[in-house]
Amino acid sequence: MTEVLLEAKGLGKRYAFGETFVDALANVDFSLQTGELVVVLGPSGSGKSTFLNILGTLDRPTVGTLNYKNELMTEKTDEELCAFRREKVGLVFQFYNLIPSLTALENVQLIESHGESAMSSEDALRRLNLWERRNHFPSELSGGEQQRVAIARAIVKKPALLLCDEPTGALDVSTGVVVLQAIEEVHHDFGVSVMLITHNVMIAGIADRVIHMSGGKITSIEKNLKHMLARDLQW
Ligand code: ADP
Repeated sequence: MTEVLLEAKGLGKRYAFGETFVDALANVDFSLQTGELVVVLGPSGSGKSTFLNILGTLDRPTVGTLNYKNELMTEKTDEELCAFRREKVGLVFQFYNLIPSLTALENVQLIESHGESAMSSEDALRRLNLWERRNHFPSELSGGEQQRVAIARAIVKKPALLLCDEPTGALDVSTGVVVLQAIEEVHHDFGVSVMLITHNVMIAGIADRVIHMSGGKITSIEKNLKHMLARDLQW
């Protein structure tokens, strides 16, 4: 039986500028199941990043509630949310966000040293086929390798939730596929729930469910019956 990991109800995020405002997110209800891979599609400005950031507790909604299992996250303090993210949430962004003065290994070890890590940095880098590159600095790695280091860093604590915001947005197609395969593999092997934002409709092929967003709203959610592996995606 599947378990609900995250449950969002009536989420809204409003940015006010004097007299005017933008509803980046409006009245969004959504449940993420444990072990599910969900792809979020929508044009630029449709609220995808705002939605993901609120689900990951990086940002707070203006209205609405977010539950993680049975805990009401929207009532927690900033310190509690920080501890929650450190333990449970892995983040992967379009532009890797690696520390340039640290090697690949040191970038991952930085997270490992933050607390109870569920695997060693060596295991995480080996899993991403990067052990031979461990002593390279980000500037000495290709974009795809840097993104794989970012994934190793995100998974070293075996997060319950992996949030990926345009993880292949800066990569060419074949490198993007390798990165998607890495995400797919950690999703499969650890049963980690994944939310992945993309502009690329083809990538939706790897999802269990696909969310379409427009104007700060979820316009539809579909089950992906033609579930594919990243390596079989047709670009
Ligand atoms: P997407 O990820 O789909 O491109 P975003 O969630 O980044 O969309 O943005 C949704 C809307 O909210 C856009 O109109 C954007 O300009 C606005 N927005 C996002 N973040 C901020 C912010 N910090 N301040 C003001 N407006 C914002």
